[in-house]
Amino acid sequence: MSKDVLIIGTGLGGLATGLRLATRGYKIIFIEKESQPGGRLNQIKKEGFTFDIGPSFFSMPYEFEEFVKNCGIKMPFEFNELEPIYTVHFKGSNKRFTLYKNIDKLSAQFENIEPNFKSRFISYLNKCKELYWDTIDIVIKRNFDSVPEYLKSLIQVNPKHFPVLFKTFWKQTGKYFKSKEARQIISLIAFFLGRTPFDTNAVYTLLSYIEFLNTGYYNVKNGMYTIVQSIVNELKKLNALFYYNTEIVDFKSDNNKLTALIDQNGNKWEADIFVINSDAAFFRGNVLKRKQFSEDRLRKMNWTMGYLTIYLGISKKLPQVEHHNYFLGDNYEEYSKDIMVNPYTLEKPYYYVNVLSKNNNCAPIGSESLIFVCPVPNLLYKPDWSDKEEIVNSIINDFSERIGENISDKIVVKLSYTPEDWQNKFNLYKGAGLGLSHKLNQIGAFRPKNYDEIYRNTFYVGASTIPGAGLPMSIISSKLVVERICNYAKDSKQ
Ligand SMILES: Cc1cc2nc3c(=O)[nH]c(=O)nc-3n(C[C@H](O)[C@H](O)[C@H](O)COP(=O)(O)OP(=O)(O)OC[C@H]3O[C@@H](n4cnc5c(N)ncnc54)[C@H](O)[C@@H]3O)c2cc1C
Repeated sequence: MSKDVLIIGTGLGGLATGLRLATRGYKIIFIEKESQPGGRLNQIKKEGFTFDIGPSFFSMPYEFEEFVKNCGIKMPFEFNELEPIYTVHFKGSNKRFTLYKNIDKLSAQFENIEPNFKSRFISYLNKCKELYWDTIDIVIKRNFDSVPEYLKSLIQVNPKHFPVLFKTFWKQTGKYFKSKEARQIISLIAFFLGRTPFDTNAVYTLLSYIEFLNTGYYNVKNGMYTIVQSIVNELKKLNALFYYNTEIVDFKSDNNKLTALIDQNGNKWEADIFVINSDAAFFRGNVLKRKQFSEDRLRKMNWTMGYLTIYLGISKKLPQVEHHNYFLGDNYEEYSKDIMVNPYTLEKPYYYVNVLSKNNNCAPIGSESLIFVCPVPNLLYKPDWSDKEEIVNSIINDFSERIGENISDKIVVKLSYTPEDWQNKFNLYKGAGLGLSHKLNQIGAFRPKNYDEIYRNTFYVGASTIPGAGLPMSIISSKLVVERICNYAKDSKQ
């Protein structure tokens, strides 16, 4: 008899887990607190404009390929490689860096700035490549049953990499590059992990290998939300059920099994197996009332930064701006060190701008859909966002100045989410955009587990369990949790 699986949350991790299980014959029911699926990979539509609310590209497409193959379906969405991958603009300089995967075109950008850039970059990337291949299967793409098992597998990592563990991302770039421009541009990727190059371990320079050599970045045709829509379509073909505007707030258990989850209206949702796609640490504390994840303990964990995101529909084309663009200030080190913790640093913020309408049909003719992502302190460090409008306007003014065109009077749609919105919409603890950080004591067997400590029929998937944040990681997370669920189902049959 097929088992009923109740999945709490329709983020990418939840949806991918659901599809992997549905194609194995499980009956899938989704419960989602929001009114539409996707979690952080979501979409807003307003007055003819479409915006992806968070992710704007992904790497490691082979994880998506493994996923669809595992589900026995064809790739349900189209994706295209980005080349160039993005542009970087420094405050007070007219020079625009265009980041190509093509190493000669990339190196030409650093002529007169970083002598021998090409050979330095190649030796940097070679080290990143070794780090990637020496850790990915041993540490990242694996389930661990215990800390000793995890430590044993860490010992299998080539010892030549150990010195890297004692460095920051920023320090590691300093070993290869001298110019501030090269170091700043190459270390920007640490922000994708939700922290800064100054508090991200150098082992994550392996991301530079993914960025420039291994796969690069991909955009999804018709916008990132197509990923969600296409997986939901596949799930519906397999009779999965979706219940929206339903938030799980309580539970019922019997010895070592969860028997039901209870929503905000007191409805009981029973199942054989439960998968939690809500934040794995926050859900344990907030819903399951685990002492190890009490408010006090959660506060002491290391969380990622918040994001202030702005969605602008403007009645004008912007030929001077590319699809993906970074606008940096002139105080990278000071800014990075402060941004996580100091609420008063937002006067001249750094930000990323995605012009979704460059390559997609998601704005009225002659118009543009813009998404701004600005790293900001999460609610632990800046609980009061009453100054949101001021900050949003300062970013719009700065952008206008830097592209040489005032867009303020062309704005048709203007929306924004502060960390408070991200928290309230998706239950992201303190609005930390990427969930728990990837500090070495919060990864692998030290991250909240993907199986419950007490209830044998309860599992977790998503950014705050293994392996971590980002769309490809959600897909890997779904693979790892399905492995656990299938083993549990096999054991409980015997
Ligand atoms: C601004 C921003 C930009 C990003 N950009 C990128 C990018 O360019 N590329 C990339 O790869 N990654 C990016 N990411 C990261 C990526 O979005 C996430 O890592 C990924 O989407 C997380 O998926 P998840 O499976 O953890 O689920 P989530 O997206 O966290 O979804 C969880 C779902 O559970 C629901 N839920 C929570 N609690 C309950 C409850 N009690 N009851 C019912 N439902 C509940 C929530 O409403 C939500 O829908 C970005 C993130 C942000 C915030």
